[in-house]
Amino acid sequence: MRPTLQRNCLKALAISAGLVAGLPAAHAAGTLDVVAVKASVDKGLDGFYPHLDALYKDIHAHPELGFQETQTAAKLAREMRALGYEVTEGVGKTGIVAIYHNGPGPTVMIRTELDALPVEEKTGLPYASTAKQILNGRETFVDHACGHDLHMAVWVGVGKALMDLRSKWSGTVMFIGQPAEETVGGAKAMLADGLFARFGKPDMGFALHVGATPYGEVEYRPGVYSSTSDELHVVFHGRGGHGSMPAATIDPIVEMSRFIVDVQTVVSREKDPAAFGVITVGSVQAGVAGNVIPDQAQLAGTIRSYDPTVRQKLIAGIQRTAAAEAAMSGAPAPDVSIIEGGKALVNDPALTERTAIVLKKAFGDKASLMPAPIPASEDYSEFILAGVPSDFLSLGGVDPQAYADSIRSGKPLPVNHSPFFAPVPEPSIRTGVEAMTLAVVNVMQKK
Ligand SMILES: [Zn+2]
Ligand SMILES: [Zn+2]
Repeated sequence: MRPTLQRNCLKALAISAGLVAGLPAAHAAGTLDVVAVKASVDKGLDGFYPHLDALYKDIHAHPELGFQETQTAAKLAREMRALGYEVTEGVGKTGIVAIYHNGPGPTVMIRTELDALPVEEKTGLPYASTAKQILNGRETFVDHACGHDLHMAVWVGVGKALMDLRSKWSGTVMFIGQPAEETVGGAKAMLADGLFARFGKPDMGFALHVGATPYGEVEYRPGVYSSTSDELHVVFHGRGGHGSMPAATIDPIVEMSRFIVDVQTVVSREKDPAAFGVITVGSVQAGVAGNVIPDQAQLAGTIRSYDPTVRQKLIAGIQRTAAAEAAMSGAPAPDVSIIEGGKALVNDPALTERTAIVLKKAFGDKASLMPAPIPASEDYSEFILAGVPSDFLSLGGVDPQAYADSIRSGKPLPVNHSPFFAPVPEPSIRTGVEAMTLAVVNVMQKK
């Protein structure tokens, strides 16, 4: 889900545009002894990393699709129980919740996804997946091509680090293992199963995603992180007939063609030009013969936006334009359906900046502002919309040299969802555990 190309260019643009968050010096003074906490996390990892590495490779070699992650969830439940957490399984079908109460203070949620993708792995790694599962009645290869396995290793590593550091913080930590992120149903399923009613509503939350940026690096982004994605389907109705006698017909292909062109003026003329918004028609279907005017024509597309008011404007514009094209042809009203996908993930600016101060202290210039939101979507947004202010971080996963070579040569590295996507485990997992543990301890410091 992360674009790799042009990262440096985008970063340069962001800097020149003055977009890098200026962190006030007064805040940077903070009370957390970042160096000491990081050193303690590192010391813990020196002993615990081999265990995390084995867990990561086991999960990688045995990936499971959304809502089928029973073995994966069982492995994580076993890990967290062994660390002393109170674990509940089967939340939102295959989700898990691991809680530790450590005195008064805020409740902080730490989320990982559990699911993999229907992709045939081609990395050639010794721990590559050859697993298959049934998806929609058909057998398919399964691969952790999005890096959710790495998130799980980080999640368990943070679980261990927070236990080691429990004299330093106070409050409740709520670790959640969320199913079915890729199909955008898992977060909703956990919420519908009473996640917050049963376990308490967190005061704040953290999550991260690994991508094809250099390992050792962490990026933060206050505000919009990723986009809303909606599916669009329109069926235009007409009256079929002979291609030589159009006056006796209502041509749905003409209705659809006008719509495809006119709907772009919703993007260019109706929404704020400075606000992100895309309408793309990616599929059209109508007719089978060149000399027959068909009865109907249909199209499918995608709608992307960051802001809910822009989203509403685009949807209203689509409906109005489709109806108008039909009316202009004297045709029956079209069927327009919008299928809601993932919603924009919007990070809490205050929490993100508060965390960024600590990350900067720990990682120096390897912690930086993410230059632009990503057009992909992510259902962690459901927890934010349910009222949990959050900081969703981006974690580097590839060899810095390979990254530099790719920028120089213009040859892209495999990104998330590619059958060749292969983050480097140890430095990525260690950085993830350090960053996330610091983020959590920072907001739960003992008074
Ligand atoms: Zn993904
Ligand atoms: Zn993902």
